[in-house]
Amino acid sequence: MTFNPNASLDPGQITDRRGMRGGGGLAIGGGGIGIVLLIAYILLGGNPGDLGGAGLQPGAVEGPGSSALATECKTGQNANERDDCRILGYVNSIQAFWKDRFAASGETYSPANTVLFSGVTSSGCGTASSSTGPFYCPPDQLVYIDLDFFKELRSRFGASGGSLAQGYVVAHEYGHHVQDLLGTLKSGANDQGAEGRSVRTELQADCFAGVWANHAAATGYLQPFTSEQIADGLDAAAAVGDDRIQQSATGEVDPDSWTHGSSAQRQQWFTTGYQGGDPNGCDTFKGNI
Ligand SMILES: [Zn+2]
Repeated sequence: MTFNPNASLDPGQITDRRGMRGGGGLAIGGGGIGIVLLIAYILLGGNPGDLGGAGLQPGAVEGPGSSALATECKTGQNANERDDCRILGYVNSIQAFWKDRFAASGETYSPANTVLFSGVTSSGCGTASSSTGPFYCPPDQLVYIDLDFFKELRSRFGASGGSLAQGYVVAHEYGHHVQDLLGTLKSGANDQGAEGRSVRTELQADCFAGVWANHAAATGYLQPFTSEQIADGLDAAAAVGDDRIQQSATGEVDPDSWTHGSSAQRQQWFTTGYQGGDPNGCDTFKGNI
């Protein structure tokens, strides 16, 4: 058990688009109309599939998921039993932590919703599909997650995929939202390479995820993590390392094209955040990483 069974969840932090139907026949291209390939902060590098310009059909409506989530994901007990409720629980805990943390610094944290989708959905960064992987989109300040990704994390990326693997993924994406609020999520994040700005940005998001993990129990939503659960988080971080993904995809590792950092780096920065519990210890923009 991970979540406190009596914790009260806030379903208002999730926008549930599961059950929405994407446009029939994805009109990729469309004469260039609507191709808005803005920077999206995706969890993993490699070739997860780009966000393109195809969108939902006009008039697509939210499925029944929203109300179902609100009525079925009410407590920590629900989060212990269901994947979608668990994502909600993590989103609640992560945002509770950052709200307090910003307030302690005299700043105001602006909450960001997570969009749960299945299949395909539109975003301020273009169209996302299951193969995109979880991402944060700065223009609309939303986190996008397809729950099927966590199956893929186990089957394709070989992670154990325990509960904190999900927590790590959600916390990493909210790490980008925090960067966005702090103004450190700037253009230039496409700079590739092992020491480049993209890798540094991603490793800071991993570190921020670790900082939240340190304080997760204090948010009231979660019980203190066990060492096995932390190992699940580290395992997920390693699974989405650039070197691991490149090795399995092509059999070769090319640090010059890295965007997210190696498995070892991602584990190291999550650990740095977790052990220190201080976002100020997450300065990945200076020195060796
Ligand atoms: Zn990222």
